[in-house]
Amino acid sequence: MEDIISRAKKLSTFLREKVNGLQLKHCLLCLETGCATHICSACAADLTAPKHPCPRCGISRVAPDTAPCGRCLRQPPYFDVSTSAFDYSFPLNQVIGQLKYGDKRYWARALAQAALPAFEQACAHISAPVLVPVPMHKSKQRKRGFNQAELLARSLARYADVAFSNKLCKRIKASPPQTGLNRKNRRSNVKNGFAVSSKLPQQPLIIIDDVVTTGSTVDELARTLKQAGALEVYIFSIARRSMN
Ligand SMILES: [Zn+2]
Ligand SMILES: [Zn+2]
Repeated sequence: MEDIISRAKKLSTFLREKVNGLQLKHCLLCLETGCATHICSACAADLTAPKHPCPRCGISRVAPDTAPCGRCLRQPPYFDVSTSAFDYSFPLNQVIGQLKYGDKRYWARALAQAALPAFEQACAHISAPVLVPVPMHKSKQRKRGFNQAELLARSLARYADVAFSNKLCKRIKASPPQTGLNRKNRRSNVKNGFAVSSKLPQQPLIIIDDVVTTGSTVDELARTLKQAGALEVYIFSIARRSMN
């Protein structure tokens, strides 16, 4: 019985994606027709990149600086470098909201495609990476029906022609959402929240997430992966949100 339900679910997802795919003849943001991409070039140009990012953690800064930010100098993160394609501002914040809470899964493909140039630029020096989505706890994934980080990582891997795996790690703690917590509490909220679930490949890993705020979650995952033997762990997110 369960098998039939799961097959029916798969079929309905497949049909929904087909229908969404057929609707993708126009820009998803301005509805301009005849676009080669899901988000037209004019709308893509409106999505702003983080300003003067820290070369280590990717946080926006007020002035250009080639040195890492104060926080990275005081307490270097476990990950090697974190990069984000865009600022978490309008209209991107709305789009990510639609993807996560409005069940508009087709946005994952559009966002991955729009973020591809930033990804290629940030990760050009990383040889044969494996994209690893931030895993979602199974109780949350069952409720939502999907993990948006996984959809984004899958699409990005396809567009960038690199490897993808959602089998390397899992979320073992159903931590409450990070929203509303300060930096210190964010860190303790996700502490020991992940576990490595299979042998890690001897390749650089790039953790993929939809939004990075303080980086506590992705850094905790990077810590777990490095403890399990990963040598290089990078972060790439679609959007970077500032704390204030
Ligand atoms: Zn457009
Ligand atoms: Zn930094």
